[in-house]
Amino acid sequence: QVSAVELAQESLAAIEAARELNAFIDVNPEPTLAAAKAADARLARGESGPLVGLPIAHKDVFVTRDWRSTAGSKMLDSYRSPFDATVVERLAAAGMVCVGKTNMDEFAMGSSNENSHFGPVQNPWDRRAVPGGSSGGAAAAVAARIVPAATGTDTGGSIRQPASFTGVTGIKPTYGRVSRYGMIAFASSLDQGGPFAQSAHDCALLLNGMAGFDPRDSTSLEHPDEDFTRAIGKGWNGGTNAAKPLDGLRIGLPNEYFGDGLASDVRDAVEAALKQYEALGAVRVPVSLPKTELSIPVYYVIAPAEASSNLSRFDGVRFGHRAAQYTDLLDMYKKSRSEGFGEEVKRRILVGAYVLSHGYYDAYYLQAQKIRRIIASDFQQAFTQCDVIMGPVAPTVAWDLGAKGDDPVAMYLADIYTLSISLAGLPGMSVPCGFGANGRPVGLQIVGNYFDESRMLQVADAFQ
Ligand code: GLN
Repeated sequence: QVSAVELAQESLAAIEAARELNAFIDVNPEPTLAAAKAADARLARGESGPLVGLPIAHKDVFVTRDWRSTAGSKMLDSYRSPFDATVVERLAAAGMVCVGKTNMDEFAMGSSNENSHFGPVQNPWDRRAVPGGSSGGAAAAVAARIVPAATGTDTGGSIRQPASFTGVTGIKPTYGRVSRYGMIAFASSLDQGGPFAQSAHDCALLLNGMAGFDPRDSTSLEHPDEDFTRAIGKGWNGGTNAAKPLDGLRIGLPNEYFGDGLASDVRDAVEAALKQYEALGAVRVPVSLPKTELSIPVYYVIAPAEASSNLSRFDGVRFGHRAAQYTDLLDMYKKSRSEGFGEEVKRRILVGAYVLSHGYYDAYYLQAQKIRRIIASDFQQAFTQCDVIMGPVAPTVAWDLGAKGDDPVAMYLADIYTLSISLAGLPGMSVPCGFGANGRPVGLQIVGNYFDESRMLQVADAFQ
């Protein structure tokens, strides 16, 4: 039997061997090996558990005592937290061994991991391609089999889209399921942590370790704990037809998710997956999510508004980077912030401050909040007709590094299929379903109703 120390050493060696991927921002073998030894001691005492001794990498947005916590920003380049995020703490308590912190778009703003202060990450399937973002390092680390699991966060797609681009499984739980305590905030009403792994079953085990009420997060939901593996391998709604385990499953297909913007290679891979689901006993139900197109402007008003507020704490006084030379306090704020933040982050702060400002609040922010509510109720309408919703995660496979670098709006448009799920607070996941252009992976998106993660994972597992 392989020991936790051996597994940790293998992961650390794999990080080293795959340096060019640039998937990691910080590694620190000492606490890693100490945790691995502790896990071996637990195993020796006969304390088993599905996660004990397994390596995990944390997205660098989760604060950690033993590693730097940069959120991909120069602002926090050398920041060390005095405490661990709840997610980090919980997975450590479950026996997992952290091997390092993964690269990400600065403050989780991006869809390609090219906005990181620490440079872009390569997609292990094709090094010319982006891994997706903002959790690009986490997805690449799992796809390259450096670690069996990683944490990520998803504000508008940052778990699902990189999972899709790198051919791994990733789930964004219902908003409020996973504690945000110690997760460096981007847009607090949208941010949600979740796992990346090689399968839905592994994601269920990880979610068992991560999820649960946390009094330190004011939006954490008091929902009874559950075993997310409970439905895996069972027939749909207790069905016993072994040949058709998903007999009776109604898959809602929003017609807005299969329109003109969808690339044909992605469409073909998703269509092939849907055929397999039919063979497993599921039926297709056409549904409509009429405000899908508006999810882009709505998200890109609300997320920057919240970001501009959250990021005001980085003032050069309490956290992070401080300019070396300045004349007075105001000058110190200005210089520290202009040096510490990258271009995309500045763009969002400006947009956010604008839409919240007197005279524009009603026109933009309030309108966006109203449409957000309609988007959420459209999903509830759809869920009266179906059990899960399926569709593509992104309109295309991973694009080339640099291809959208100077066009932020082109990057925003690529979030079309993930944003509305985040705005509604629903759980969504990406499951690998084939390959498209240049042999790049394609993910199938599965969306469930609130707190329906166990059944989503059951549906995903039946396909894997
Ligand atoms: N691409 C989206 C953005 O840039 C989503 C990022 C995320 O989910 N963190 O805001």
